[in-house]
Amino acid sequence: MKGVEFIAGIGGGSNIYVIDGELLIDTGTGEYFQETKAMIEKAQDVSKLKTIINTHCHYDHSGGDKKFRDWLGATVCAHEKDRKTLETGNGTRARLFGAVPRVVTVDKKLRGGAKIKTENFSFEVVHTPGHTPGSICLYESEKKILISGDTLFENGVGRSDFEGGDPAELRKSIEKLFTLPITHLLPGHGLPRSNGINFYIKQLLVQNMV
Ligand SMILES: [Zn+2]
Repeated sequence: MKGVEFIAGIGGGSNIYVIDGELLIDTGTGEYFQETKAMIEKAQDVSKLKTIINTHCHYDHSGGDKKFRDWLGATVCAHEKDRKTLETGNGTRARLFGAVPRVVTVDKKLRGGAKIKTENFSFEVVHTPGHTPGSICLYESEKKILISGDTLFENGVGRSDFEGGDPAELRKSIEKLFTLPITHLLPGHGLPRSNGINFYIKQLLVQNMV
């Protein structure tokens, strides 16, 4: 899709998306920073890549934040409810990846309803707690794109049994996503999915898979 660069997750790290060369959505574990940096540089001019957005606080999505920020001179953004986890490293689940937690200062706190604009896209922050308290999705209503982090995958939903997770909240969040027309689902792991997304979400709800 024009303006969206998809970098598939490496070594347990999350997928990374670069939007219009302006937004970097999630940063993986950071263990493959050099490889990822090379891919991004090869694909585009990074002079405008100044905003890092974390879909949530987990290590596999945010471990690279500091390295990318230092490289790009970018601002790190996350929902206010995941800020403390990112800043203390407690609850990022880094040890599950055999890693030491990395901490990063959140420069800008995001709330549901916040707008994030780039040259060709206008995303709205949708607060979707359940996987973590500060999980967010980014929704583009005109192009019907949803960047879903670990809330919704091509085939199922994120876990809600980790520290800070809440199954009832996750269900409410998926119900909220069901109200949005979505043509392109860009999840935090696995492959993007196109078409039939709303039917798919309805099936998850009807079959009590969330
Ligand atoms: Zn996660």
